[in-house]
Amino acid sequence: MNTCPWCKTPTDRTILELKDYFLTKEDFKIMECPNCGLRFTIPRPAPEEIGKYYQSENYYSHQQNNKGLVPRIYEFVKSFNIKNKSSMAIGGLTQGKLLDIGCGVGDFLVQVKKQGWEVQGIEPSDDAKNIAEKRLSFRPYSSSDYAMFEDHTFDVITMWHVLEHIDDLHFQTKEIHRLLKPGGRLIIALPNFQSFDCQYYKEKWAAWDVPRHLNHFAPDVLREIITSCGFQTIDTQKLKWDAYYISYMSERFQGHSMPLVRGAWIGQRSNWKARKTGMYSSLVYRFQKL
Ligand SMILES: [Zn+2]
Repeated sequence: MNTCPWCKTPTDRTILELKDYFLTKEDFKIMECPNCGLRFTIPRPAPEEIGKYYQSENYYSHQQNNKGLVPRIYEFVKSFNIKNKSSMAIGGLTQGKLLDIGCGVGDFLVQVKKQGWEVQGIEPSDDAKNIAEKRLSFRPYSSSDYAMFEDHTFDVITMWHVLEHIDDLHFQTKEIHRLLKPGGRLIIALPNFQSFDCQYYKEKWAAWDVPRHLNHFAPDVLREIITSCGFQTIDTQKLKWDAYYISYMSERFQGHSMPLVRGAWIGQRSNWKARKTGMYSSLVYRFQKL
């Protein structure tokens, strides 16, 4: 029996058996909690062991100055994705303080800072922090530094594809709630396994990304969890480009030829279907602290 990391209900309900296709090729399972519906990765690497699963030159989100077609497309898309993200995070607000949790090399913070906001970041990777420090002229904090921040410090907290990596969801949600001002905005971007690209690729869907992704949230489950922590839902938005990137990576895991072409086609179909269902490959959930 395994235990749900959120509500602690024991379960042996296995949804999928899959591998770390991206890096180690080790075997993992996705379990589903029968009580709260959260899906989670088993075995769950201990926090002190998880580092080895991130050691890859292909982990684009921490890399800069990549060469080759795909990294170039990735960089190109990223640049206007960032503007889209900043409008979701701070659109309609007067300038204030923003914390980006899992800020990586600081792409998003650079953009928000440019728009006159006071910014802070938290990032576990030292390599990423070193790059971010040069670009932001301050060093992002570590994951163990939450206590450094006073209550009600921030107007906005963002987590771009971060909550699925978090081991201690209770600590994380409590700290986010503590750090936000009343009425403050919380932005959580996550992959969505109810998307067409997940249904199509099944266990080879790249956004399962085990064991780096410890938690897998259905949209309703995520909303239930976050609203139970003292937030209300504002709305849910889409990240359209993720369907193409995830489909491309999934094609590579299958060993197919022309992964870029096939991935573009499946990504396109996913986005078409999502126009009716709302089930995009990645979703951005916006909440407000009560
Ligand atoms: Zn549960």
